[in-house]
Amino acid sequence: MKKALITGITGQDGAYLSRFLLDKGYQVHGLVTDYDRSQLANLKQVGVLDSVSLVSGDLMDLAQLKGLLEELRPDEMYHLAAQSSVAQSFQTPVDTVTFNIQSTQHLLESIRTLALPARFYQASSSEMYGRVKTLPVVEESVFHPVSPYAISKAAGHWLAVNYREAYGLFCCCGILFNHESVLRPPNYVTKKIVSAAVRISRGSREKLTLGNVEIRRDWGYAPEYVKTMWLMLQQDEPDEYVIATSEAHSLRSFAAAAFSCLELDWEEHTIIDRTLLRPSDIDLIYGNPAKARNRLGWEYDMTFDQLVRRLVEEEMAHQEEIQSG
Ligand code: NDP
Repeated sequence: MKKALITGITGQDGAYLSRFLLDKGYQVHGLVTDYDRSQLANLKQVGVLDSVSLVSGDLMDLAQLKGLLEELRPDEMYHLAAQSSVAQSFQTPVDTVTFNIQSTQHLLESIRTLALPARFYQASSSEMYGRVKTLPVVEESVFHPVSPYAISKAAGHWLAVNYREAYGLFCCCGILFNHESVLRPPNYVTKKIVSAAVRISRGSREKLTLGNVEIRRDWGYAPEYVKTMWLMLQQDEPDEYVIATSEAHSLRSFAAAAFSCLELDWEEHTIIDRTLLRPSDIDLIYGNPAKARNRLGWEYDMTFDQLVRRLVEEEMAHQEEIQSG
Protein backbone atom coordinates (compact mmCIF):
# COMPACT_ATOMS: atom_id res chain seq x y z
CA MET A 1 0.00 0.00 0.00
CA LYS A 2 1.43 3.37 -1.04
CA LYS A 3 1.75 6.08 1.57
CA ALA A 4 0.89 9.72 0.78
CA LEU A 5 1.47 12.74 2.96
CA ILE A 6 -0.67 15.81 2.34
CA THR A 7 0.11 19.20 3.88
CA GLY A 8 -2.93 21.49 3.92
CA ILE A 9 -5.15 18.40 4.11
CA THR A 10 -7.93 20.36 5.83
CA GLY A 11 -8.36 22.76 2.88
CA GLN A 12 -10.51 22.37 -0.22
CA ASP A 13 -7.97 20.48 -2.33
CA GLY A 14 -6.62 18.48 0.61
CA ALA A 15 -10.07 17.06 1.30
CA TYR A 16 -10.78 16.11 -2.32
CA LEU A 17 -7.27 14.73 -2.86
CA SER A 18 -7.63 12.58 0.28
CA ARG A 19 -10.86 11.12 -1.09
CA PHE A 20 -9.21 10.46 -4.46
CA LEU A 21 -6.09 8.80 -2.99
CA LEU A 22 -8.08 6.68 -0.52
CA ASP A 23 -10.21 5.43 -3.43
CA LYS A 24 -6.96 4.49 -5.19
CA GLY A 25 -5.96 2.39 -2.16
CA TYR A 26 -3.43 4.78 -0.63
CA GLN A 27 -2.72 5.17 3.06
CA VAL A 28 -3.27 8.92 3.52
CA HIS A 29 -1.52 10.98 6.19
CA GLY A 30 -2.17 14.65 6.75
CA LEU A 31 0.02 17.19 8.43
CA VAL A 32 -1.94 19.73 10.48
CA THR A 33 -0.67 22.56 12.66
CA ASP A 34 -2.58 21.54 15.74
CA TYR A 35 -4.90 18.53 15.64
CA ASP A 36 -7.12 19.78 18.47
CA ARG A 37 -7.74 23.10 16.79
CA SER A 38 -7.84 22.04 13.16
CA GLN A 39 -10.84 22.75 10.98
CA LEU A 40 -12.01 19.26 10.10
CA ALA A 41 -15.27 20.24 8.39
CA ASN A 42 -14.02 19.63 4.84
CA LEU A 43 -12.67 16.18 5.68
CA LYS A 44 -16.00 15.34 7.32
CA GLN A 45 -17.93 16.68 4.35
CA VAL A 46 -16.14 14.45 1.84
CA GLY A 47 -16.46 11.49 4.25
CA VAL A 48 -12.77 10.79 4.89
CA LEU A 49 -12.18 12.04 8.42
CA ASP A 50 -12.11 8.53 9.89
CA SER A 51 -9.95 7.14 7.08
CA VAL A 52 -7.03 9.59 7.09
CA SER A 53 -4.33 9.75 9.73
CA LEU A 54 -3.64 13.28 11.00
CA VAL A 55 -0.40 14.26 12.64
CA SER A 56 0.40 17.62 14.27
CA GLY A 57 3.54 19.31 13.03
CA ASP A 58 4.92 22.75 12.23
CA LEU A 59 6.15 23.27 8.68
CA MET A 60 8.24 26.21 9.91
CA ASP A 61 10.23 23.93 12.24
CA LEU A 62 12.76 22.13 10.04
CA ALA A 63 14.16 19.85 12.76
CA GLN A 64 10.71 18.70 13.84
CA LEU A 65 9.64 18.20 10.24
CA LYS A 66 12.67 16.05 9.48
CA GLY A 67 11.88 13.88 12.50
CA LEU A 68 8.31 13.38 11.31
CA LEU A 69 9.29 12.59 7.73
CA GLU A 70 12.05 10.20 8.74
CA GLU A 71 9.52 8.21 10.71
CA LEU A 72 6.70 8.37 8.17
CA ARG A 73 8.76 7.92 4.96
CA PRO A 74 5.91 8.70 2.52
CA ASP A 75 6.10 7.58 -1.13
CA GLU A 76 4.39 10.75 -2.31
CA MET A 77 4.17 14.20 -0.75
CA TYR A 78 1.57 16.76 -1.79
CA HIS A 79 2.43 20.22 -0.50
CA LEU A 80 -0.87 22.08 -0.48
CA ALA A 81 -0.56 24.07 2.76
CA ALA A 82 -0.40 27.78 2.09
CA GLN A 83 -1.92 31.08 3.01
CA SER A 84 -3.91 30.75 -0.20
CA SER A 85 -5.95 33.93 -0.42
CA VAL A 86 -4.71 36.66 -2.77
CA ALA A 87 -6.84 39.29 -1.00
CA GLN A 88 -5.56 38.24 2.44
CA SER A 89 -1.97 38.36 1.19
CA PHE A 90 -2.25 42.15 0.76
CA GLN A 91 -3.22 42.36 4.47
CA THR A 92 -0.51 39.99 5.72
CA PRO A 93 2.27 40.10 3.11
CA VAL A 94 5.11 39.13 5.45
CA ASP A 95 3.35 36.11 6.95
CA THR A 96 2.12 34.97 3.53
CA VAL A 97 5.48 35.20 1.81
CA THR A 98 7.39 33.74 4.78
CA PHE A 99 5.13 30.74 5.29
CA ASN A 100 4.48 29.89 1.66
CA ILE A 101 8.16 29.94 0.74
CA GLN A 102 9.73 28.52 3.88
CA SER A 103 7.28 25.64 4.23
CA THR A 104 8.17 24.59 0.68
CA GLN A 105 11.89 24.81 1.25
CA HIS A 106 11.70 22.91 4.55
CA LEU A 107 9.93 20.00 2.87
CA LEU A 108 12.39 19.94 -0.04
CA GLU A 109 15.36 20.26 2.27
CA SER A 110 14.04 17.38 4.40
CA ILE A 111 13.71 15.13 1.35
CA ARG A 112 17.22 16.11 0.21
CA THR A 113 19.07 15.74 3.50
CA LEU A 114 17.27 12.55 4.55
CA ALA A 115 17.66 11.19 1.00
CA LEU A 116 13.98 10.19 1.00
CA PRO A 117 12.77 8.56 -2.23
CA ALA A 118 9.48 10.52 -2.01
CA ARG A 119 7.96 12.17 -5.06
CA PHE A 120 6.98 15.79 -4.36
CA TYR A 121 4.03 17.83 -5.64
CA GLN A 122 4.19 21.63 -5.38
CA ALA A 123 0.92 23.57 -5.53
CA SER A 124 1.95 26.33 -7.92
CA SER A 125 -0.61 28.82 -9.18
CA SER A 126 -1.76 30.68 -12.28
CA GLU A 127 -1.39 33.83 -10.16
CA MET A 128 2.38 33.58 -10.80
CA TYR A 129 1.82 34.78 -14.38
CA GLY A 130 0.00 37.91 -13.19
CA ARG A 131 0.23 40.71 -15.70
CA VAL A 132 0.33 38.48 -18.77
CA LYS A 133 1.60 39.65 -22.15
CA THR A 134 0.42 36.68 -24.22
CA LEU A 135 -2.62 34.46 -23.89
CA PRO A 136 -3.41 31.69 -23.34
CA VAL A 137 -0.84 31.03 -20.65
CA VAL A 138 1.36 27.97 -21.18
CA GLU A 139 4.00 26.45 -18.89
CA GLU A 140 6.78 28.62 -20.41
CA SER A 141 4.93 31.94 -20.17
CA VAL A 142 6.78 34.68 -18.30
CA PHE A 143 5.93 35.28 -14.62
CA HIS A 144 4.93 38.79 -13.55
CA PRO A 145 3.27 38.23 -10.15
CA VAL A 146 1.10 41.11 -8.87
CA SER A 147 0.41 40.12 -5.24
CA PRO A 148 2.41 38.90 -2.23
CA TYR A 149 0.63 35.55 -2.65
CA ALA A 150 1.69 35.27 -6.29
CA ILE A 151 5.27 36.18 -5.41
CA SER A 152 5.37 33.49 -2.72
CA LYS A 153 4.01 30.93 -5.19
CA ALA A 154 6.55 31.92 -7.84
CA ALA A 155 9.37 31.47 -5.32
CA GLY A 156 7.98 28.10 -4.17
CA HIS A 157 7.72 27.03 -7.79
CA TRP A 158 11.35 27.88 -8.54
CA LEU A 159 12.49 26.17 -5.35
CA ALA A 160 10.82 22.96 -6.49
CA VAL A 161 12.33 23.30 -9.98
CA ASN A 162 15.76 24.03 -8.51
CA TYR A 163 15.70 21.05 -6.12
CA ARG A 164 14.84 18.92 -9.14
CA GLU A 165 17.55 20.34 -11.39
CA ALA A 166 20.28 20.75 -8.77
CA TYR A 167 19.69 17.76 -6.49
CA GLY A 168 17.73 15.39 -8.70
CA LEU A 169 14.57 15.32 -6.55
CA PHE A 170 11.37 14.13 -8.22
CA CYS A 171 9.46 17.45 -8.00
CA CYS A 172 6.36 18.27 -10.03
CA CYS A 173 4.60 21.64 -10.12
CA GLY A 174 0.91 21.84 -10.85
CA ILE A 175 0.15 25.32 -12.16
CA LEU A 176 -3.52 25.25 -11.38
CA PHE A 177 -5.96 27.95 -12.42
CA ASN A 178 -8.83 28.84 -10.06
CA HIS A 179 -10.82 25.77 -9.15
CA GLU A 180 -13.96 25.95 -7.11
CA SER A 181 -16.29 23.85 -5.01
CA VAL A 182 -18.64 24.01 -2.07
CA LEU A 183 -15.58 23.55 0.17
CA ARG A 184 -14.10 26.98 -0.69
CA PRO A 185 -13.73 29.18 2.40
CA PRO A 186 -16.53 31.80 2.71
CA ASN A 187 -14.25 34.75 1.88
CA TYR A 188 -13.50 33.45 -1.67
CA VAL A 189 -15.49 35.35 -4.23
CA THR A 190 -17.18 32.42 -6.00
CA LYS A 191 -18.29 30.93 -2.67
CA LYS A 192 -19.37 34.39 -1.49
CA ILE A 193 -21.56 34.83 -4.59
CA VAL A 194 -23.05 31.34 -4.63
CA SER A 195 -23.77 31.17 -0.91
CA ALA A 196 -25.38 34.63 -0.91
CA ALA A 197 -27.49 33.73 -3.97
CA VAL A 198 -28.73 30.54 -2.28
CA ARG A 199 -29.52 32.35 1.00
CA ILE A 200 -31.39 35.08 -0.92
CA SER A 201 -33.38 32.43 -2.81
CA ARG A 202 -34.37 31.05 0.59
CA GLY A 203 -35.67 34.42 1.80
CA SER A 204 -32.62 36.33 3.08
CA ARG A 205 -32.82 40.09 2.46
CA GLU A 206 -29.04 40.57 2.51
CA LYS A 207 -27.07 42.40 -0.17
CA LEU A 208 -24.04 40.81 -1.83
CA THR A 209 -21.04 43.14 -1.92
CA LEU A 210 -18.52 42.77 -4.75
CA GLY A 211 -15.44 44.68 -5.92
CA ASN A 212 -14.26 44.55 -9.54
CA VAL A 213 -16.76 42.46 -11.49
CA GLU A 214 -14.97 43.00 -14.81
CA ILE A 215 -11.99 40.75 -14.00
CA ARG A 216 -11.94 37.65 -16.18
CA ARG A 217 -10.74 34.30 -14.90
CA ASP A 218 -10.46 30.67 -15.96
CA TRP A 219 -12.57 28.74 -13.43
CA GLY A 220 -12.69 24.94 -13.09
CA TYR A 221 -14.13 22.30 -10.75
CA ALA A 222 -11.86 21.33 -7.85
CA PRO A 223 -12.56 17.55 -7.60
CA GLU A 224 -11.52 17.20 -11.27
CA TYR A 225 -8.39 19.32 -10.82
CA VAL A 226 -6.93 17.40 -7.84
CA LYS A 227 -6.72 14.25 -9.99
CA THR A 228 -3.95 15.94 -11.98
CA MET A 229 -1.78 16.21 -8.86
CA TRP A 230 -1.68 12.44 -8.61
CA LEU A 231 -1.28 11.99 -12.37
CA MET A 232 1.81 14.22 -12.36
CA LEU A 233 3.52 12.08 -9.73
CA GLN A 234 2.85 8.86 -11.72
CA GLN A 235 4.87 9.98 -14.78
CA ASP A 236 8.37 8.68 -15.56
CA GLU A 237 9.81 12.21 -15.41
CA PRO A 238 8.91 15.12 -13.12
CA ASP A 239 7.61 18.23 -14.87
CA GLU A 240 5.34 21.29 -14.72
CA TYR A 241 1.78 21.37 -16.02
CA VAL A 242 -0.80 24.10 -16.56
CA ILE A 243 -4.24 22.94 -15.44
CA ALA A 244 -7.01 25.13 -16.83
CA THR A 245 -10.16 25.09 -18.96
CA SER A 246 -8.82 27.53 -21.63
CA GLU A 247 -11.86 29.81 -21.27
CA ALA A 248 -12.13 33.12 -19.43
CA HIS A 249 -15.34 34.51 -17.98
CA SER A 250 -15.95 37.73 -16.08
CA LEU A 251 -16.96 37.85 -12.46
CA ARG A 252 -20.07 39.66 -13.69
CA SER A 253 -20.97 36.59 -15.81
CA PHE A 254 -20.28 34.31 -12.87
CA ALA A 255 -22.63 36.28 -10.60
CA ALA A 256 -25.28 36.52 -13.33
CA ALA A 257 -25.13 32.77 -13.99
CA ALA A 258 -25.28 31.84 -10.29
CA PHE A 259 -28.31 34.04 -9.56
CA SER A 260 -30.00 33.00 -12.78
CA CYS A 261 -29.83 29.30 -11.73
CA LEU A 262 -32.12 30.42 -8.88
CA GLU A 263 -34.26 32.62 -11.14
CA LEU A 264 -32.89 35.79 -9.58
CA ASP A 265 -31.36 38.92 -11.11
CA TRP A 266 -27.92 39.40 -9.55
CA GLU A 267 -27.95 43.19 -10.02
CA GLU A 268 -31.02 43.56 -7.80
CA HIS A 269 -29.17 41.95 -4.91
CA THR A 270 -25.64 43.26 -5.34
CA ILE A 271 -23.75 46.38 -4.28
CA ILE A 272 -20.47 47.29 -5.95
CA ASP A 273 -17.99 48.47 -3.33
CA ARG A 274 -14.85 50.06 -4.73
CA THR A 275 -13.05 49.67 -1.38
CA LEU A 276 -12.90 45.95 -2.21
CA LEU A 277 -10.65 46.58 -5.22
CA ARG A 278 -7.18 45.06 -4.81
CA PRO A 279 -4.08 47.30 -4.87
CA SER A 280 -3.03 45.46 -8.03
CA ASP A 281 -4.96 42.79 -9.87
CA ILE A 282 -5.03 40.61 -12.98
CA ASP A 283 -7.57 41.84 -15.58
CA LEU A 284 -7.71 38.77 -17.78
CA ILE A 285 -6.08 35.35 -17.66
CA TYR A 286 -6.73 31.89 -19.05
CA GLY A 287 -4.54 28.89 -19.63
CA ASN A 288 -3.89 26.22 -22.22
CA PRO A 289 -3.88 22.73 -20.63
CA ALA A 290 -2.72 20.94 -23.83
CA LYS A 291 0.40 19.51 -22.18
CA ALA A 292 -1.65 18.01 -19.33
CA ARG A 293 -4.16 16.62 -21.81
CA ASN A 294 -1.49 15.08 -24.05
CA ARG A 295 0.96 13.77 -21.47
CA LEU A 296 -1.22 13.07 -18.44
CA GLY A 297 -4.29 12.04 -20.40
CA TRP A 298 -6.29 14.52 -18.32
CA GLU A 299 -9.82 15.05 -19.55
CA TYR A 300 -12.03 17.91 -18.45
CA ASP A 301 -15.27 18.67 -20.19
CA MET A 302 -17.38 20.68 -17.75
CA THR A 303 -18.62 23.93 -19.30
CA PHE A 304 -18.74 27.21 -17.38
CA ASP A 305 -22.55 27.03 -17.08
CA GLN A 306 -22.37 23.44 -15.83
CA LEU A 307 -19.74 24.45 -13.27
CA VAL A 308 -21.83 27.31 -11.91
CA ARG A 309 -24.93 25.13 -11.75
CA ARG A 310 -22.99 22.40 -9.93
CA LEU A 311 -21.72 24.94 -7.39
CA VAL A 312 -25.24 26.26 -6.80
CA GLU A 313 -26.66 22.74 -6.37
CA GLU A 314 -23.90 21.75 -3.95
CA GLU A 315 -24.40 24.94 -1.96
CA MET A 316 -28.18 24.38 -1.76
CA ALA A 317 -27.62 20.86 -0.44
CA HIS A 318 -25.00 22.17 2.00
CA GLN A 319 -27.22 24.91 3.40
CA GLU A 320 -30.14 22.47 3.74
CA GLU A 321 -27.87 20.05 5.61
CA ILE A 322 -26.77 22.80 8.01
CA GLN A 323 -30.35 23.87 8.60
CA SER A 324 -31.54 20.35 9.34
CA GLY A 325 -28.65 20.02 11.83
P1 NDP B 1 -7.25 26.25 1.20
O1 NDP B 1 -7.09 27.68 1.62
O2 NDP B 1 -8.61 25.67 1.14
O3 NDP B 1 -6.37 25.33 2.16
C1 NDP B 1 -5.12 25.74 2.60
C2 NDP B 1 -4.56 24.73 3.57
O4 NDP B 1 -3.30 25.23 4.04
C3 NDP B 1 -5.45 24.49 4.79
O5 NDP B 1 -5.42 23.13 5.14
C4 NDP B 1 -4.75 25.30 5.87
O6 NDP B 1 -4.91 24.74 7.15
C5 NDP B 1 -3.29 25.17 5.45
N1 NDP B 1 -2.50 26.29 6.01
C6 NDP B 1 -2.67 27.60 5.80
N2 NDP B 1 -1.78 28.31 6.52
C7 NDP B 1 -1.05 27.40 7.21
C8 NDP B 1 0.03 27.50 8.15
N3 NDP B 1 0.54 28.68 8.50
N4 NDP B 1 0.53 26.35 8.65
C9 NDP B 1 0.05 25.15 8.26
N5 NDP B 1 -0.98 24.99 7.40
C10 NDP B 1 -1.50 26.10 6.88
O7 NDP B 1 -6.51 26.13 -0.22
P2 NDP B 1 -6.85 25.17 -1.45
O8 NDP B 1 -7.15 23.82 -0.94
O9 NDP B 1 -7.86 25.86 -2.31
O10 NDP B 1 -5.50 25.18 -2.27
C11 NDP B 1 -4.49 24.19 -2.04
C12 NDP B 1 -3.17 24.71 -2.55
O11 NDP B 1 -3.25 25.00 -3.94
C13 NDP B 1 -2.71 26.01 -1.90
O12 NDP B 1 -1.31 25.98 -1.78
C14 NDP B 1 -3.13 27.08 -2.89
O13 NDP B 1 -2.32 28.23 -2.77
C15 NDP B 1 -2.90 26.36 -4.20
N6 NDP B 1 -3.72 26.80 -5.31
C16 NDP B 1 -5.08 26.81 -5.17
C17 NDP B 1 -5.88 27.22 -6.23
C18 NDP B 1 -7.37 27.22 -6.13
O14 NDP B 1 -8.03 27.76 -7.03
N7 NDP B 1 -7.95 26.61 -5.10
C19 NDP B 1 -5.28 27.65 -7.52
C20 NDP B 1 -3.84 27.51 -7.55
C21 NDP B 1 -3.10 27.11 -6.48
P3 NDP B 1 -5.78 25.51 8.28
O15 NDP B 1 -7.14 25.67 7.69
O16 NDP B 1 -5.69 24.60 9.44
O17 NDP B 1 -5.06 26.82 8.46
